[in-house]
Amino acid sequence: MTEDFNPKFMIRAIELSRRASIEEKTGGVFGCVVVKDGKIIGEGYNQVLKNNDPTWHAEMQAIKEACKSIGSPHLEGCILYTSAECCPMCLTAAYWAHVDHIYYAATTGDALEYGNFDDIDFLEEIRKDPKDRRISAVGRMRSEAVEVWKEFAAMENKAHY
Ligand SMILES: [Zn+2]
Repeated sequence: MTEDFNPKFMIRAIELSRRASIEEKTGGVFGCVVVKDGKIIGEGYNQVLKNNDPTWHAEMQAIKEACKSIGSPHLEGCILYTSAECCPMCLTAAYWAHVDHIYYAATTGDALEYGNFDDIDFLEEIRKDPKDRRISAVGRMRSEAVEVWKEFAAMENKAHY
């Protein structure tokens, strides 16, 4: 389901981007709202600098708030409005959250040009073989870890999402 674009929600996301970057200086030029049935159920703005938290992106906060407000880790039927195109972390969070649709305003190119945010580089990194990435990822102690997976798989009444 793709809900029609409503500019008032993007205006709010852009307001939040101004709050983060210019008014409160909590982080980058990023704001976000999650909308369900024509109402905002979660809001966020970048607070990476305020909280010394590299994951405190607008979308992450808005998704967390929205999930809390409806008491579910999933946001089916929800639309995410973000003032700038999602970085790979937030895009993935949107997939984990099962949002229906994303609207963005500024592009990753704008974020690079005006703010030197290098998300585009992250996308290129992700496409590489894990061992060839700048932060290389190498597998170790698989069998020990898989023991827990096997125990989990065999469990009755396991918590799953
Ligand atoms: Zn992000």
